[in-house]
Amino acid sequence: MSTVIFETEEAIFQFNRHAVMECLNHRKTLYEIKELDLLLDVIRSQPETATLSIEEHRYFGFIALDLINDGEGSALCKTCNKQYRSNQLKVFTAGPDETAFKTSAGKKRVFKDLFRKKPKPIGLSGWKGVKCPEGGHTLIFMRTWIT
Ligand SMILES: [Zn+2]
Repeated sequence: MSTVIFETEEAIFQFNRHAVMECLNHRKTLYEIKELDLLLDVIRSQPETATLSIEEHRYFGFIALDLINDGEGSALCKTCNKQYRSNQLKVFTAGPDETAFKTSAGKKRVFKDLFRKKPKPIGLSGWKGVKCPEGGHTLIFMRTWIT
């Protein structure tokens, strides 16, 4: 099976290549971000198994979080030295409180109505990450913009 390997300091994630490409292409229809084209190029240039690292391709962290959210792939926790399926991982968020999130969602809708496609970020940010289920080790932690 063709795979995409994504390495962070704490973990090695493994995803189905087809699922990764679908996720990247889907994001491309929503956002104009040059990192998306870059990632598509990098993955296409590595036949079968593509390897990415968070130092070189930080943006892929967002793709990894999306995929994990969908229950795609697996992660090897380097501290536990154990492999976990994505649906075993614990997704957590930090940052703006509940009220801020709700306000943001309201603004988002207004923005979308005004401009339809490709809304601009409104500058509110939070953090999202995943932990391994056994040791609670943080495998990935990304600042996410609520747009
Ligand atoms: Zn662990």
